Amino acid sequence: MTRKLIILGYFLFSIMGMAQIYKPIDTADYLQREAFLYNFKTDNELFIKELRSRYSGRMSSELSKIYKELGTDFEGKVKNKDFVFKSEFDEIIQSLIERLRKNNPEVPKNLKILIARDNTPNAYCLADGTFVINMGLYNWLDNEAQVAAVISHELGHKIDGHTPKMILSIVEQNKQDKFTIQEIKETTDSKSQNRNQKAFDILKNRIYKNGVEKRKLEMQADSLGYVIFKNSDFKKNEFINALQKLQAFDTISAKELKVSTYKKLFDLPMQSFKEKWLKKEDFSLYNYNFYKEKLNKDSLASHPEMVRRIERLKKIFPELKASVDPEKSSEAYMTLKKIGKMEILPNYFHSEDYGLGIYTAMQFLQDGEEEKYYKSWLGKCFAKIYEARKNYNLNRYLDRIESKNQSESYQQFLNFMWNLSLDEIKNIAAFYQAIEVVAKVN
Ligand SMILES: [Zn+2]
Repeated sequence: MTRKLIILGYFLFSIMGMAQIYKPIDTADYLQREAFLYNFKTDNELFIKELRSRYSGRMSSELSKIYKELGTDFEGKVKNKDFVFKSEFDEIIQSLIERLRKNNPEVPKNLKILIARDNTPNAYCLADGTFVINMGLYNWLDNEAQVAAVISHELGHKIDGHTPKMILSIVEQNKQDKFTIQEIKETTDSKSQNRNQKAFDILKNRIYKNGVEKRKLEMQADSLGYVIFKNSDFKKNEFINALQKLQAFDTISAKELKVSTYKKLFDLPMQSFKEKWLKKEDFSLYNYNFYKEKLNKDSLASHPEMVRRIERLKKIFPELKASVDPEKSSEAYMTLKKIGKMEILPNYFHSEDYGLGIYTAMQFLQDGEEEKYYKSWLGKCFAKIYEARKNYNLNRYLDRIESKNQSESYQQFLNFMWNLSLDEIKNIAAFYQAIEVVAKVN
């Protein structure tokens, strides 16, 4: 009797356990994707036709070439399933845009919303009115208003036509550079040092000019975006809160992976844990300050920029000066946030970032989250790592150790991964893939 109960109990428990396993967003959206592609192609062709009638000569042909290439590139992304159609995100984002449009008639009506399988908190707008929203926005931001703030900023770019302006200025700059280089050739002695110096100056100028130009456009989009945001019914200060949140973003989580997590996850029945897996390269050379300095300088290059943008907004719009805590998120937002979080692993898998996927899954497992789900993703990612290792192209999917550019925890992880032998990887993959079978029963 007791035994029967235990078995029954186990059975019920496992059914419940299975039912709780999250089912990633369905990508069986062939029809929607085809329809989108058809419309996108038609619209882009129309756009190019219009450009050709507005400009003449070389400018006309160069512009249409650029937009054709951009279009083909984007179609490739759609075909590669970089975007999900008919997801829970669509309707809510559409309604956010409606809320923004209500008191802002200048917000375009022909926007086509696409949700990208991308964990970085970002959004962008194409020339034809396609509006891309990354799932990562939902992981990183606190509430709907902050998502609306990011959308407003992008609308600012769109309304002011920043993308076409940028492309136009690049084409013009190219033409000018060619002209100036020709001039230098004609006026200076080919052997002179001077000639090289001048050519270098032109290049430097162009990079600087593009940087200045870009910064200017960002600030314009901030101001225009904030006005749109302010005119609608969101809490004004969430605009600043959103920028502050984005400022703190980093691709690789700074959370530390503990040694005990490695031992817990990789001490398997058929293969016990080996201390030598954790062997690190010489860390005496590791200089945390150097890493921090580099973080501040390069990988977060846009961040000091963000500080300046926030300061500037506060100066122009004094009502933004006071800092206000983020609003509590709505239930609808929390649902999307949860989906966004559960899609982090499918997204990394989609972009073939298997190493990053394993690192992230281990962090979730360290926190005791959705065990079966993340273990099954460990299995999937390790199976890919195994294939890559067998085919000698592991460095395509797993970062190399760079003692100056990575956190100590991430370096420890990379050391561990590179220390594993082909057979050891195979065993880990097999063990965790067995969990996937259970998940599939549902
Ligand atoms: Zn921008």
